Amino acid sequence: MTQENINLNKINKDKAEPRREIAESDFTTDVPSENKLAKHAIQVHKFGGSSLATAECIKRVLEIIRANCQLNDIVVVSANGKTTDSLFALHDLVERTIAEQKIQTSDEITQLITALAKAQEKLITDLLNANNTKQLLLRLSKDIEQLSHWLAGDIVKYRNDILAFGEVWSARLLSALLNEQVCPSNSIDSRDFLVIDNEQSCVVDTAKSAAQLRQRRQFGKLAVITGYISKDSRGNSCTLGRNGSDYSATIIASLVAAGNVTLWTDVDGIYSADPRVVPNARKLHRLPNGVAKELGRLGNPVLHAKTLLPLINPLSEHHTHLHVASSFDPKVIGTEIGKFGQIAKQELSVTYLNDLLLAQSVSFTGKTAERAKAEFSPLCMDNQKGFMVITQEQQKSLSQWLASHDVEITFKPVSIIATVGHRVAERGDIKARFKRSLKTAKPIDILGSDNDHSVIAILPETCSIELLNSVHHEMTKDVRHIGLVVAGMGNIGERFLELLPAQLNKVYALENLHLVGLLSSKKALINNDGIDVAQASKLFAQEAQNYDTEQLISWLTQNPYDELIVVDITPSEDFSLLYEQMFSLGIHVIGANKWAASSSTKHFNNLVNTADKNNSLWLGNTTVGAGLPINYAIEDLRQSGDSISELSGIFSGTLSWLFETYDGTTKFSELLLNALAQGITEPDPREDLSGRDVQRKLLILARKAGFELALEDIDCQNLVPEALQSLSTHDFLARANELDEYFSSALSDAKSKGACIRYVARFQYDDATGVTAKVSLEVLPQTDAFANLTPCDNIFQISSHWYQDNPLIIRGPGAGRDVTAGGLHSDLVKICQQLAHKQHQVRIKGIN
Ligand code: ADP
Ligand code: ASP
Ligand code: MG
Repeated sequence: MTQENINLNKINKDKAEPRREIAESDFTTDVPSENKLAKHAIQVHKFGGSSLATAECIKRVLEIIRANCQLNDIVVVSANGKTTDSLFALHDLVERTIAEQKIQTSDEITQLITALAKAQEKLITDLLNANNTKQLLLRLSKDIEQLSHWLAGDIVKYRNDILAFGEVWSARLLSALLNEQVCPSNSIDSRDFLVIDNEQSCVVDTAKSAAQLRQRRQFGKLAVITGYISKDSRGNSCTLGRNGSDYSATIIASLVAAGNVTLWTDVDGIYSADPRVVPNARKLHRLPNGVAKELGRLGNPVLHAKTLLPLINPLSEHHTHLHVASSFDPKVIGTEIGKFGQIAKQELSVTYLNDLLLAQSVSFTGKTAERAKAEFSPLCMDNQKGFMVITQEQQKSLSQWLASHDVEITFKPVSIIATVGHRVAERGDIKARFKRSLKTAKPIDILGSDNDHSVIAILPETCSIELLNSVHHEMTKDVRHIGLVVAGMGNIGERFLELLPAQLNKVYALENLHLVGLLSSKKALINNDGIDVAQASKLFAQEAQNYDTEQLISWLTQNPYDELIVVDITPSEDFSLLYEQMFSLGIHVIGANKWAASSSTKHFNNLVNTADKNNSLWLGNTTVGAGLPINYAIEDLRQSGDSISELSGIFSGTLSWLFETYDGTTKFSELLLNALAQGITEPDPREDLSGRDVQRKLLILARKAGFELALEDIDCQNLVPEALQSLSTHDFLARANELDEYFSSALSDAKSKGACIRYVARFQYDDATGVTAKVSLEVLPQTDAFANLTPCDNIFQISSHWYQDNPLIIRGPGAGRDVTAGGLHSDLVKICQQLAHKQHQVRIKGIN
């Protein structure tokens, strides 16, 4: 068994894995070739403090590791919960106590130390077995002793050693727990391998760090590495800044050429604004690297500012994927950060930072501006007006730097709010909208960032939650990426696609719709970055790949759009059986396919309920009467409070043509063969003559009108005599003349009464008799509304409470390429209009 194939699920059951010391060849730090990469695709999983806050959270993490990790993967951890905050608080309190020479705070210091120790003790005792508890408590008490010692000594010197305890404790605990319950594991203190130049620039000594890491990792053990901390070339402890474990994870990923990094946190992805305070924030499924980098730079807590740096190396062919996922809901697909096309590039988000300073000085103009910028990497800077925005922590060093230049500086408290997205600073419309949305906040200035991925407003006051919500609403209210999948590349499918480019150009409701999938019964073309609508059929012919249902469902499950619409233009019952899964994924369906809407009562009700529960929309106007608005009319009456008592008409274009044309001068069978030759009938005309199609249509309409009935409740007259029913198509066509006698005598009987014959669908309901429904050949007076149609036309007649004496009639072409494709487009526009009004609220386990 190769190491990368060892699954932790298995190890747990079969713990006796051979162990040996790591060999040089076990891990590689070279940039791997394609093949090597496939073999060694190491995954780095980073768990943030929120994911490790309590014993319960840590148990969840254990399960995530069990399900997702292999032994040569790497786990990077933050300190448990808010441990780093507590260590900071302790350090700062001691520093103040010394500065202010206070003695009375020593009690407070002792209390803080005790609280820290107690919190760790609780995690240890809650999670570990007796033996490990004993060992870890012993090591903890030694650390607490050391901590107290450092606090009483040179705390400037030991600041970082003090802050490092959080990650050290967290890694030690998780590793011990993995050893007990999941797989062999060792914890590694990143200060034993990770070397940076200094805390300000954090440039990694890659060669040295990679070599040392290789020595630390042990074959057959899952490494749990401390995030956040490292050392400098002189061996002093350093930190990578608040939230720095994200950066640790990507540095380590680049040292081992990992294939993937997942940042497990308490939110299931990166949202268009902080979901704790903006309930309408949208999840950004795919974020281009540059935009994610800018979000981190502007203080988004999910991504430390430098997180992306180790992953975007233009010289390296190696590409590491970065994902953000929730440890509270690991099955939910999170955000992927990487290189994407046009659709992902349209995403917009809004982020803010309070407690900043606007620093103004002549040194921030002209040549010295560049030096100041290089030295302090301000959040934003205007070298014409001579100001930059920095954090409060930078104030001291900036003042010192300027003092050495002998220039004056003024500081003013400010905050920033920014809209972030691919090249937004180049987009006049976005800048104008952002400006409008900020009117009441009276920004001091609004400027684009150097990389053009953000527009930043500097505010004189704190950015309030109300302002954040209203700016976010303005910037994102009509952003919603809707993916469109067209299933069925036949006659109507082709026409639907031909009409699509013009529809996208002219219909406003389709603004955010992207064609992303084309399916036939065996082939699929899926492109998450969108398929060029002008060449859809050609691209499908050239590029479609074989597909199976499992692959399709897996893509549907992970699709990166806010909404996905599948248009089913197939005649396939099998495809209709996927609707339930689609609805349970929240996918919307437009069906021209009659199978699902006319399936058994149980199956149909189940579909309707599943769609309802998951807010999936299901439209199928073209299942009956092609583009004629019959389904809409029925639904409208029903929703308006009317009650329908009768539905009748001629529902089959083929049967309409046959009986409108059949006048006895030509034999019925000749007419039938003629219709077949013109494509008016199905390839086997018995499908039309059987009445099954009409029966299904009547069922669909009766259900739309609110009645619960099944296909068996509708009597169906099969116009094919029994003797011809089970023949092959060929034999049936050869013996079609056997139909003639029946139709000729039916027609002459009718004619003798001044009447005609028509294949009619009838549904009736009254309280006394209940439902009667049938589809059959009827004799109708020549004056009947159903008697004088243009051949091929359909007619639908509705009687209701409101339409009693004079029924409502809808009449027109009930089949055909253009009208059916048009009807599907009408459904598409309707769904998109409804989706535009759909309000969604963030509901995330862990933070809500
Ligand atoms: P961890 O403990 O895993 O390191 P953090 O607390 O550092 O996690 O970051 C996650 C938090 O970031 C979430 O709880 C979320 O509220 C907040 N946050 C702020 N802005 C965003 C955003 N745009 N998208 C997602 N989360 C955000
Ligand atoms: N524990 C550190 C902090 O709280 C680092 C991290 O969580 O990423 O900032
Ligand atoms: Mg964090």
